Amino acid sequence: MRFPGLRQTRFNLITVGYEILDGKILDTNSKWLAERITSMGGRVDRMITVGDDVDEIAWAIRESIKSGVDWIITSGGLGPTYDDLTLRGVAKALKRKLVLNRRALEMLKIRYKELYERGIIPSPELTPQRRKMAMLPRGGKPLRNEVGSAPGVLLRSGRARIVCLPGVPSELKNIFENEVEPLIRKSLKKVFRVERWFEARGVAESTLAPRLEILRSRNPDVYIKSHPRMEEGRSMIRLQLISAANRLKAAERRVEKVAESLKKIVMELGGEFSPIRGDEP
Ligand code: ATP
Ligand code: MG
Repeated sequence: MRFPGLRQTRFNLITVGYEILDGKILDTNSKWLAERITSMGGRVDRMITVGDDVDEIAWAIRESIKSGVDWIITSGGLGPTYDDLTLRGVAKALKRKLVLNRRALEMLKIRYKELYERGIIPSPELTPQRRKMAMLPRGGKPLRNEVGSAPGVLLRSGRARIVCLPGVPSELKNIFENEVEPLIRKSLKKVFRVERWFEARGVAESTLAPRLEILRSRNPDVYIKSHPRMEEGRSMIRLQLISAANRLKAAERRVEKVAESLKKIVMELGGEFSPIRGDEP
């Protein structure tokens, strides 16, 4: 749902991986992130999927910056292997060098020492592949990964903040919840959402429909949805009104105005109109 004129903190999600473009895996990370962001009051403008290709990743980052979003969140391609290219792509888009980050290196050192002590890996040594995960675009801050190895990365470019998360869903969720969500919450523009339900009895939906159409076009800032059903052979339509605004009063006023008009319409058509108590019957 989108409300014209509503100022919201805007996000682009960039997914990196040929597995996704090849249809081998489903991009559940974007779904999860979008749901989280939306429920917080943010707005995802675009989801972009690109392959494991530095130029493609750089392109998606540049397009997102150009579009003026507040947050860019990438997932995938942070691992130790040669085909994990996300940070190279981000560095290219921002025209920054990849530099060894001490804190990231420290995180990796602790991680591999632990894995070694638990007998999971034969050596705790920071091989070039492991060190690769500590090479961040200059100015990047590592984000602690409690589940896997590759730290996430937080960067700023102008007014946009860029977050790079690993593709493994449990790692992505861990870093997002612990390290990213608190920052997003602080950055969110206030959005107030008002939802009201009403019922119209004794009017057929097909009779009401053309009047609703006009009401909708005159009130683009209110979502108007009708849910018809038959009750004891009589038409009963539940009407759902939703508005969102940066000020609570404005959202309430818009919904009330439409409710007034709806009431008039239903009465004119010979029906009964009444509010339904509670939010969602
Ligand atoms: P790793 O350190 O494990 O290499 P990575 O950040 O490099 O992590 P990828 O190599 O891109 O991540 O993905 C690792 C695995 O995570 C994939 O094989 C896939 O199973 C899963 N995965 C990646 N991207 C997604 C996604 N968008 N949605 C769901 N699962 C994903
Ligand atoms: Mg990988």
